[in-house]
Parts: sequence; C-alpha cells; structure tokens
Amino acid sequence: MNKFDVIIIGAGAAGLMSAAHATKRGKSVLLIESNKSPGRKIIISGGGRCNFTNLEVDSTFYVSKNKHFSKSALKQYTNWDFIDLVCQYDLKYHEKSLGQLFCNGTSKEILNILLKEIGKSATMNCDERVSEVMKNDELYEVKTNRGLYSAPSLIVASGGLSMPKMGASDIAYKIARQFGHKIIETEPALVPFTANEDLKKEFSTISGVSLLATVSCGGQSFSENILFTHRGLSGPAILKVSLYWGNREKVRTNFMPMADIETILKSNTKKTLQNALKESLPTRFIEMWVGQIPRILSKKCSEISNKEIAELREILHEYDFCPAGTEGYRKAEVTRGGISTDNVSSKTMESKLSPGLFFIGETLDVTGLLGGYNFQWAWSSGYVAAQNV
Ligand SMILES: Cc1cc2nc3c(=O)[nH]c(=O)nc-3n(C[C@H](O)[C@H](O)[C@H](O)COP(=O)(O)OP(=O)(O)OC[C@H]3O[C@@H](n4cnc5c(N)ncnc54)[C@H](O)[C@@H]3O)c2cc1C
Repeated sequence: MNKFDVIIIGAGAAGLMSAAHATKRGKSVLLIESNKSPGRKIIISGGGRCNFTNLEVDSTFYVSKNKHFSKSALKQYTNWDFIDLVCQYDLKYHEKSLGQLFCNGTSKEILNILLKEIGKSATMNCDERVSEVMKNDELYEVKTNRGLYSAPSLIVASGGLSMPKMGASDIAYKIARQFGHKIIETEPALVPFTANEDLKKEFSTISGVSLLATVSCGGQSFSENILFTHRGLSGPAILKVSLYWGNREKVRTNFMPMADIETILKSNTKKTLQNALKESLPTRFIEMWVGQIPRILSKKCSEISNKEIAELREILHEYDFCPAGTEGYRKAEVTRGGISTDNVSSKTMESKLSPGLFFIGETLDVTGLLGGYNFQWAWSSGYVAAQNV
C-alpha cells in the first residue's frame, strides 16, 4: 500500500488549491481524480472565462444552515489573496459587473496557475475513481479502481452533484455519513426554471428574449437580466433566485423595474401603447407578452381603461410564475445543501467526529451566489484545510 501524508479526493478547484498549499508545507500529497484530467469545471466555468472571485466577498453571499460557518475561512484566505496569486502569474482579468472578476483570456489560465503552484511536488492520479474509505487506527485507507493508498489526513474535495458528465459523484456524502456526519438535503441550484406545458408554449414565442427584470422569491430579490427559453426562464437573475427557491413556491417578476406603467401611460397620452413601451421593453416581448391582452397594443395610452391598467400591472410588474421545476443537476452550476457544517470546524474544515478527515469546497452545506463566490469558497476552504493537515 502506498503511504502519503495527505490524500485528496477530487482534483477540482478546492482539491487543487489544497494540494498546492499542503505541498508548500512539505507534505507528501496524493490527488485522486476520476476524470481523465484535473479541473474540468474550472475550464468550462464563466462561459470559458472563469469568474474566479469577486471584489466584494463575505459570508452574506453564501447560503448555509449556519450562516456564520464560511466567515473564518473567507478571512483566512481572502479574495485579495487569490487576486494577488493571479497577479503573480501576470494573468489579465477584468471586472464584468457587480464586482465579478473574469479572465481576459480563458479559464485554462486559472487551472494552469494552480497546476504550476502544485508543480511536481504532488502525485496526481487521474482517471482513477475512489470507491471506498476505511479507517485503520490513525490512518485513512482509500480504495480506488486501481489500488489502495493510506494517509493520516484525508481531504474530501469531490464536489457536489451538479453536472454528472463533469465527474460529479455522491462519494463525499457517503464518506461523511460513514463517519457520522449529517447531510443537509441537496437540491440543484444556480439553475434555470422549467415551465408547465401551457406556459412553455407562451414562453417559446419569446424564447431568446432577454431583458432586465427584478425577480423575487424566498425573501430575496435580484435585478439583473432574465432570458426566456423554450423550456422556461434562465439568465443571471433567475439562476440567483433559484438558490432560494423551495418547491412550488411562486417567483414574482417585475419585467419593467426601471419604469412604472401608469407613469408611461400618463406621459405618452398621444402614442399607442406599443410605441410608448418601446423605450422600456424589447419589441418581441411587447408583441407577444403585452399583446396577450386583446387589441391593447394599438390603443392610445389615454384610451386605456382602469381594468386594462390593472391587467398591465399584473403582467408587467407583478407577474407570478410557478416553476414546474428546475433543469436539475444536468444544468445546475452548484448543489445547494450537502455535508452539514454542524460537526466540521469552521476554522480548519476538519471533522469533529473523525480527526484527520477534512471536507472542503462544494461538498459542504455552503453555497455561494452567482458571481465568483463558489470558486472563492473552494480557494478559501481548500487553503484552510491545507494549513491543518
Ligand atoms: C457550467 C458551470 C460554470 C460555473 N462557473 C462558475 C464561475 O464562473 N464562478 C464560480 O465561482 N463558480 C462557478 N461554477 C461553480 C464551480 O465550478 C464549483 O462551485 C466549483 O468547481 C466547486 O469546486 P470543488 O472543487 O468543490 O468541486 P468540483 O470542481 O466539482 O471538483 C470535484 C472533483 O472531484 C472529482 N470526483 C468526484 N467523485 C470522485 C471520485 N469518486 N473519485 C475521484 N474523483 C472524484 C470530480 O471529477 C471533480 O473533478 C460553475 C459551475 C458550472 C457547472
């Protein structure tokens, strides 16, 4: 059996970060990855440009049963630490909006930085799947399809359930349960909503239309773009609100947050409604969505009745959408829920039930909003575990 100081399951964002810092501390590290190559999610992230962190990061950008859990790790390794790292490698990046930092080039540059940080000091076994973990005295024994390895420290960095085709598996939850940890119910998150069959027909007439909207659900509101699809609704505001959505809950949408319908009508009395709305909404949306109200688009604004104003308010400012569901783990960027933080130290990521066992990244019940927060959690939690192995 091959013996190491540290075994890390999963060479994704968190596992690679941990490997880089554990090797810096002189530890012998084995990374085991079931994909043929490391960091596949990093490569596809941010539309190929990796939104690697955010200018503003704190625990309020994360959802967890314990809203304080992420604080310590985010302080020990901050967004500025990661920005310093990418600057050392002269990576060119830009702020897109809302503090989100993206590579100017490709996501591969982030992966390359992590691989260079690890250098040749760690052993990386790709195309090798962990099937079982045992504890023998003080040592963790890790069984794969190719062999058996042991180490006094085991870092579980195998991620959540989103995107099975990228290598996602439930091994982290199995290991956690085996050592007495609870799992907070998991759900696909940062994911598009699907519509019921009737609505699908309506939405498909405006599929491809994108507009700024305010979307609210579960006590949270986001004002960003939404996108109509053939199957439902997507876009940043929808992905964000999906993190707070509970089954069968209504999602309220204001399709015109920057203008009020009554003000538009009053200040455009001589124009038709169709022309009056052109400044605030895309043409196809006006025709297909507002045009649901019979003959209204060709009416002069001054001729629109109070009943019609109420209808307009309902479909434009107070539209309640009941999603049929979500696009599921197949399309979800992350998994909400996961290993309960109850018996994990927020300062070290070590299990309080089994010394030497660490959980990091998306395995834990810590889910960030869209905007670089999930990678920052991977960097911070990965760093912290590496300091304590
Ligand atoms: C399409 C997409 C775009 C995204 N874009 C962004 C973005 O721009 N910014 C952002 O902050 N977040 C983004 N995310 C989320 C981000 O990718 C994840 O939160 C992050 O990758 C989690 O890191 P992790 O290391 O915990 O897990 P992962 O990156 O999922 O890594 C886990 C690794 O473990 C391996 N593994 C699983 N089971 C086993 C096993 N049994 N044996 C061996 N290996 C195993 C997997 O193959 C995988 O490589 C995106 C996600 C997706 C799907």
